[in-house]
Amino acid sequence: MDLEELSREILTCTKCPLHKYRTHAVPGEGSMKLGIMMVGEAPGADEDRTGRPFVGAAGRLLTETLARLGVSRDDVYITNVVKCRPPNNRTPTREEVEACLPYLLRQIELLRPRRIVALGLTSAKTLLSLVGKRVEKIGDVRGRCFRGRVAGVEVEICVTYHPAAVLRNPRLKEEFMGDLATFLGGGLERFF
Ligand code: SF4
Repeated sequence: MDLEELSREILTCTKCPLHKYRTHAVPGEGSMKLGIMMVGEAPGADEDRTGRPFVGAAGRLLTETLARLGVSRDDVYITNVVKCRPPNNRTPTREEVEACLPYLLRQIELLRPRRIVALGLTSAKTLLSLVGKRVEKIGDVRGRCFRGRVAGVEVEICVTYHPAAVLRNPRLKEEFMGDLATFLGGGLERFF
C-alpha cells in the first residue's frame, strides 16, 4: 500500500465513533523534502470542512512561523494523531487514539521521516509512548528531542507547543519559534 492508497482508506474509515461526526477525514499533506513530519492532535472545524490539515487560525500561525524560518509548509509532511475531528474540538479519547494510531504508524513507515515534530501534549504523549517515554505535562518535554525506533524507522521525536496553545497564550510564541528553528535547522543539541 502506498501513501495515496492509505489516504483513501482513511477517508472512508469507520474504525472509531469519530467517523459519525466528520465532514471529511484529514489524512495529511506535504512532502518529505526536509525529511520532517509535523504531527498535531486532531482536525478542527476548518480542517474538517476542507479535508486539509492545519488550515484554520492555528494552521495559519504554523504556516507563517515556518515561512519566517524560510520553510514552506509544502516541504514538510503535516498530519495529526487522529484523522477525524472530535466533536467541539475536544481532546480525543485514548480509545480513539488507539483506533487511529495504525494510520500514523503506516505513514511513518511509508514516509520514513528523520525527524517528527510533535505539536502539543496529545501528540507528544502518543509519539513518545512509542519509544517508551511517559509524558504527563508538555513542560516536561517541550524543546527536547528523543531518539527511537517507530514503525521500523529510526527517528528523532522533538516536542513543541501546539500552535493553538500559542494563539491562546502569545507569550509562548518565542519558545515555539525557537523550537521550530532548532528542529528544522538541523543543529540539534538538545537530545535526551
Ligand atoms: S479518527 Fe481515525 S480511526 Fe477514527 S474513524 Fe477517523 S480515521 Fe478512522
